[in-house]
Amino acid sequence: MKYSEIVKLYSALEATTKKLEKRDILSNFLKEVPVDLLPTVVILSMGRVFPAWKETELGIAENIMIKTISKITGISETKVKEQVRKAGDMGIAVKNLLGKKSQTTLFKKELTVEKVFKNLNKIPTVAGSGSIDKKIALLSELLTSATPEEGKYITRTVLEELRIGVGEGIVRDAIAKAFNVPPDVVETAYSVRNDFGEIAQIAKEKGVEGLKKLDLKLGRPIKPMLAQKVQTIEEGLKDMGGIAAFEYKYDGMRAQIHFDHGKVTVFTRRLDNVTKQFPEIVEYAKECIDAENCIIEGEAVGIDPKTGRPQPFQRLSQRIKRKYGIKEMMKEIPVEVNLFDIMYLNNENYVKKPFEERRKTLERIIKVIPRKFQLAVQIVSSDPKEVSKFYKKSLSLGHEGIMIKNLKSPYTPGSRVKHMYKLKPEKETLDLVIIGAIWGEGRRSKWLGSFILGARDSDTNQFVEVGKVATGLTDKNLEDLTNTLKPLIVEEHIKEVKLKPELVVEVGYEEIQKSPTYESGFALRFPRVRRIRDDKGPEDADDLERISILYEAQKGKK
Ligand code: AMP
Repeated sequence: MKYSEIVKLYSALEATTKKLEKRDILSNFLKEVPVDLLPTVVILSMGRVFPAWKETELGIAENIMIKTISKITGISETKVKEQVRKAGDMGIAVKNLLGKKSQTTLFKKELTVEKVFKNLNKIPTVAGSGSIDKKIALLSELLTSATPEEGKYITRTVLEELRIGVGEGIVRDAIAKAFNVPPDVVETAYSVRNDFGEIAQIAKEKGVEGLKKLDLKLGRPIKPMLAQKVQTIEEGLKDMGGIAAFEYKYDGMRAQIHFDHGKVTVFTRRLDNVTKQFPEIVEYAKECIDAENCIIEGEAVGIDPKTGRPQPFQRLSQRIKRKYGIKEMMKEIPVEVNLFDIMYLNNENYVKKPFEERRKTLERIIKVIPRKFQLAVQIVSSDPKEVSKFYKKSLSLGHEGIMIKNLKSPYTPGSRVKHMYKLKPEKETLDLVIIGAIWGEGRRSKWLGSFILGARDSDTNQFVEVGKVATGLTDKNLEDLTNTLKPLIVEEHIKEVKLKPELVVEVGYEEIQKSPTYESGFALRFPRVRRIRDDKGPEDADDLERISILYEAQKGKK
């Protein structure tokens, strides 16, 4: 397939903000794609080359892209950088520069989707000395054959910022429409396979029946089951039918551990593969799991080696991102894994089994190493007084709160369910994305000083402003935030910058108000940053729907 065809698709998708139109454009396109090429087209339309759950990453930074462009256009790196700054988007800058370039390549080969995908796939495989040059050569080969418009999208794909506003929801609905299958069947298949390419292929070839047969697969992460919030123990107990399991709510990283005859893979709640970052989890799993294969889940908590108490999540999050110096980090922030669920055992799917049975199974197959690889502390109770004591004990040990779980319920991948609740002492907070910032004044002028908070608009998959925050941050915070946010700057206007929506912060506030000035229709009164949630991505941020529910709930309390 010609790459220009997929470029036409990108342009059409970029040209509309309407969700249904995007769905129709993508669905019409998918209908025409040959079945063996569907996985490639689907993943490219999501702006990715590798799914997040693969350890493989493209890993091309802007500076490599700048070097590549300079090489193929003969323009100096400084000039290229200037163009990028002017255009505010590397893709557009490449388009402009390729447009200006004199056509020296006489026999330009027309690019195919297969060729682009092949070269991009080769990038992570080059290693060792001269690897940067080899990566540049692979990119140059594509860009010299590319038309300006193709160059724009190749660049954006390489930098993993396609910006055509196609999220998971649109892809799900487009596959459903293209191959005439219900969206919820696609959704369920996706929650266990996490690969829309594979799902599109099966939908086309085998229809609903084929999708329904899809099962969990070792090494392929499942979307985690999510909890809802409750305000009181009584509320939780009542919904669970008067008796429930209560567990400490540990504050760490959710770890989904896949074990297959001694091979261990660890995924985060965002389904990123973090096996390399946590060698001790791999060791514990090998030592403690008595099974041929299984998928289990727990919370990995960073422990202070001196006091033995849980460390704030912020410390542990440094380990999630670390690609080097892993041994030192392991000493500084060792983790303790608290296991709480099992979804698969010895080739059998366990998600439909009741929680009490899953917990018993987990107890049976895990040989506990105390304070390293253990089961989440649990009581089963129908007595609010007993639970209240348990809750206080959990908080006194430095945990976040408690989880309340229905003993009879299944594991429901990817859903925020009414059979698992969380209870925490603090007031409701919002997870929002920083979408812009304003440079500070006076002493703080070298740092970004206030931040524009965005909530997700699920209809358009865009982020819309709900407030500005400048409080809750120390000088050190501002410096760190500035460093984190600088590479995300996409546009700069005197004092204000527009940012790629990536960084999620947990925000406390006094009240949610209706706002005629903000496009979102809401404004937060006295927002305050509680902490940076780098365990969450923009797709996990709260949306306008949740804000409107909280707004209504707040009205109810007044
Ligand atoms: P939140 O991130 O506030 O939505 O809370 C839900 C998270 O609590 C889950 O995603 C887990 O990572 C974490 N968690 C901690 N302890 C437990 C537990 N005992 N059972 C289930 N989830 C837990």
